[in-house]
Amino acid sequence: MAILGAKTFQNYIGGEWVDAASGETFESTSPANGEAIGTFPRSSAEDVARAVAAAKTAYEDWRLVPAPRRGEILFRFAQLLTEQKEDISQLMAREMGKVLPEARGDVQEAIDMAYYMGGEGRRLFGQTTPSELPDKFNMSVRQPIGVVGVITPWNFPIAIPSWKILPALVCGNTVVFKPATDTPTLGERFVELLIEAGVPGGVVNVVHGGGGEVGNAIVIHPDVPVITLTGSRETGVQVTKDAADRLKHVHLELGGKNAIIVLDDADLELAVEGILWSAFGTSGQRCTAASRVIAQEGVCDELTSGLVDEAEKLRLGVGWEEDTDVGPVINKAALEKIHSYTTIGKDEGATLLTGGEVASGDGLDKGFYYRPTIFGDVDPEMRIAQEEIFGPTVGIIKVSDVDEAIRVSNGIKYGLSSSIFTRDVNKAFRAMRDLKAGITYINAGTIGAEVHLPFGGVKDTGNGHREAGQAALDFFTEWKSIYVDYSGRLQKAQIDTSD
Ligand code: NAD
Repeated sequence: MAILGAKTFQNYIGGEWVDAASGETFESTSPANGEAIGTFPRSSAEDVARAVAAAKTAYEDWRLVPAPRRGEILFRFAQLLTEQKEDISQLMAREMGKVLPEARGDVQEAIDMAYYMGGEGRRLFGQTTPSELPDKFNMSVRQPIGVVGVITPWNFPIAIPSWKILPALVCGNTVVFKPATDTPTLGERFVELLIEAGVPGGVVNVVHGGGGEVGNAIVIHPDVPVITLTGSRETGVQVTKDAADRLKHVHLELGGKNAIIVLDDADLELAVEGILWSAFGTSGQRCTAASRVIAQEGVCDELTSGLVDEAEKLRLGVGWEEDTDVGPVINKAALEKIHSYTTIGKDEGATLLTGGEVASGDGLDKGFYYRPTIFGDVDPEMRIAQEEIFGPTVGIIKVSDVDEAIRVSNGIKYGLSSSIFTRDVNKAFRAMRDLKAGITYINAGTIGAEVHLPFGGVKDTGNGHREAGQAALDFFTEWKSIYVDYSGRLQKAQIDTSD
């Protein structure tokens, strides 16, 4: 295991490592045991302005680099990430708190995305189509847009930057990147590897600091036409308002309140496994985490006792120890928020079946650990069943049939992921059609995504865009339609020339 010494880091602007203009700094510490990870520049609008200017200048050359060459840089990036996968995963277990298997998965997702988007360098397909006029040729091509502002959360500190930065780059855009203040070292490592892979100076710039200062300065800067942000619904609304005056392209991936439906005919053992993984993986801090279980009345009791038994066996600890099942939550404020929802749940009349407390003893007091928490007798309208807790808390809601299950699953403001466990193909297809969510799993939990499919949600989870897959290209490019008239005379479209 690599022992990390706390180090001082800088911003990367126009191909150079530089301090914040103010000279101020902030610390990154481990949620697992409080150890210092690094010191980072506390940047401001002035640093953002420099980064945007560098990215704007670099854009003029980068957009003209043939897309297959841009793709080759991403292939090299994928190789470097692969070589350093273990090292970065260890760092992630320390800085963000994830257990190692999940940290490795986070890095692997970025490797997959780098290969996928690297391949797009040789595709980025447009269309050709017949003209309605003789001697005329029609086509549409994708064009880059300019400087992309990338603002990311801490919960997937390598994967989420990859979903945004890699498609932006292969399409020919340049980037100003603000990683989350809880995981700046991982953001920095991501950029270091891009530089090593051959991304020219100015094409990717990283500016560290808080959302209110650095994030907002990126959002309102007139030379940043595209903003992509993953974060909470509240941040998404604020960013939308701040970007509105300049009619920017804004892509938002926001919160979730995802449910797993378990019908009477389900494979219960599989369902228990899927729920545990979805509810308590990453300590429940995934946008796709399951925080509601909707159980049909015939299986509700058996499912509940199976879940409680298994949840109580989960071992809490530091993420870098191989026998840890559940790591810490990200910081003190998160721990307090999660615990406040336990109080809310009890006050609302739900039955606390297990957990519901801050974990202590065995060195856990040094970090931010919360016991996996399960509530029974949850009403769909309770706050614990409606609001995003973003922690290891799940509520079980009893329903009578598939219609009620789908109604309850849909009865929230979010619409990211959804799931149903059933052996009845007819009910599975009903769920695929009627669950209002960007993702539906059949006989699997709510978490996990493959990079070549679109990722995102409906309703308050986003604003209609998707990341990953071909859908990502639509956000990071603009379509241009091109008409070539080789008739040698002025032909007028839609003008009737028959008389
Ligand atoms: P957050 O909204 O607090 O912060 C996200 C990022 O936005 C951070 O980098 C932050 O510094 C920045 N930010 C905050 N205020 C800003 C502002 N006014 N202007 C510009 N930038 C600003 O979210 P978080 O706590 O880091 O992450 C957890 C949230 O992210 C949860 O709601 C979770 O569901 C969501 N999330 C969604 C997805 C998805 O794909 N739908 C994936 C992961 C996380």
